[in-house]
Amino acid sequence: MLNMPESVEECIYFTRRIVGKGNIVAWVSKQDCPQCKKAKMGKPRDNKGKVKIRAKEYTCPTCKYTAEKEAYEETLTCDIMYTCPKCLKQGEQSVPFKRKKVKIFDSEEGTEKKVDAVAFACSSCKEKLYVTKKMK
Ligand SMILES: [Zn+2]
Ligand SMILES: [Zn+2]
Repeated sequence: MLNMPESVEECIYFTRRIVGKGNIVAWVSKQDCPQCKKAKMGKPRDNKGKVKIRAKEYTCPTCKYTAEKEAYEETLTCDIMYTCPKCLKQGEQSVPFKRKKVKIFDSEEGTEKKVDAVAFACSSCKEKLYVTKKMK
């Protein structure tokens, strides 16, 4: 059983999505620094203590160990709780936090487009489900 994080502060990534009649909650928990193991890796903070959301790296606040954003994220696990939009069953999955280019149908624009997404399959009906990266 997965436990929902108590706060988004515990996560480097957290999202809730409505997908048709279903929904997806996905998150990636912060992990201990691989070097000193005394603190959780996170985005660096500026000198006022604000998290630099767009930073291209993660750092350890204790020993200052730094890891490149994408390479580090690929070592993490994305936990997912979902209600499948196709079979409406609930499920849970843990998948590598790796984004792949996938083609999805954009119902607003009526066209297919390529987006970065974490992909998984419903454990009941095998429907492919995606946690797409939000476009800015
Ligand atoms: Zn450290
Ligand atoms: Zn399903």
